[in-house]
Amino acid sequence: DIYLDHNAGAPLRPQVAELVCSVLMRTGNASSVHGPGRRARGAVETARTQVARLCGVPGAQVSFTCGATEANVTALSPVWKDGRGERRFTRLLVAASEHPSVAAGGRFPAEARESVPVDGKGLVDAASLAARVAELTAAGESVLVAVMAANNETGVLQPLAEISAALKESGAVLHVDGVQAAGRIAIDMEAWGADSLALSAHKIGGPQGAGALVVRRAGLHPAPLLTGGGQENWRRAGTENVAAIAGFGLAAELAAAEVAGWDEIAALRDGMERELCHIWADTVVFGAGAPRLANTSCFAVPGVAAETALIALDLEGIAVSSGSACSSGKVGVSPVLSAMGANKDLARGAIRISLGRQTTPEEIERFLAAWRRISGRIRQAGAGRAA
Ligand code: PMP
Repeated sequence: DIYLDHNAGAPLRPQVAELVCSVLMRTGNASSVHGPGRRARGAVETARTQVARLCGVPGAQVSFTCGATEANVTALSPVWKDGRGERRFTRLLVAASEHPSVAAGGRFPAEARESVPVDGKGLVDAASLAARVAELTAAGESVLVAVMAANNETGVLQPLAEISAALKESGAVLHVDGVQAAGRIAIDMEAWGADSLALSAHKIGGPQGAGALVVRRAGLHPAPLLTGGGQENWRRAGTENVAAIAGFGLAAELAAAEVAGWDEIAALRDGMERELCHIWADTVVFGAGAPRLANTSCFAVPGVAAETALIALDLEGIAVSSGSACSSGKVGVSPVLSAMGANKDLARGAIRISLGRQTTPEEIERFLAAWRRISGRIRQAGAGRAA
């Protein structure tokens, strides 16, 4: 089978699988003082250091969560602690192309949320965003901004350094969803000006059900989402998922070592897109004009519905995604592509291919051959109905 859906979930790394199983078999509660508890604590702290290294911050700034959804919802809090006391945010500005776990607005009431437009390439305009934040600040509001590093559907990379530089004067806090960036581009919270960052283990070859919220400055962090226990330095109550966290840590270490070296995958992806446009000259590649992750391609051909193509590809053992995996299963237009101003009928046909480091040219060849056949058949059937 050919797996081209790495943005939905990367295959578990064999070394990680081994570690997770061995920790799971012998773990205690990381809060216990006895030997098994201390061993569990050791595993969690090793992982904390590994995840912190991936982000270039000290370990104490990493809190483990059950995934990036929880990390995003935690960060989108109207109340943050800043060491001296509390900071309150009255407004949340969220880029229009964010993942649903950010788009939903976290703990901000609906009337306090506002969407920040993206252009046709999927990019946030730093100057317009800063102008809006300045306007709100002048009116007495305090603003939390969320802009993702890399989009899960299109791979488009936001100009975070430019955005945070433009926001500097305003005192706004910036939360970054770094899920798809991890292991694919260097995470630099300082250069990005990211006050907080969400990560997910299963996108980098770790197990499902572990993630992290990382903060850039030790004292500045959101009020906990889950309360009722002192775990994670009082930032996230509940017994740590020790085995999954240990696996996340190892996956983070391995992913960090792979950040350089996506050039071959980028070349493979670019070659694939050229061939797609060769098969159908009216193919549209979403976000093609913007800086993108090396591994992601989101495209559509008029008259080819994504669901139909997806099922046909699946029957041939080729796993791809329509739009975002999180919203597939529902027939609809991806909000990300809508925000980019894509034609609705065309966007309904959006297919996302996301490559992994192990993806081979042969696999892409086989996908392209299948695509040529399947899309040809679907278009022909459509033309038959229209005639
Ligand atoms: N943000 C982005 C950009 C994602 O791609 C995902 C996973 N679909 C999430 C957040 C949510 O991560 P998790 O599955 O760990 O909750």
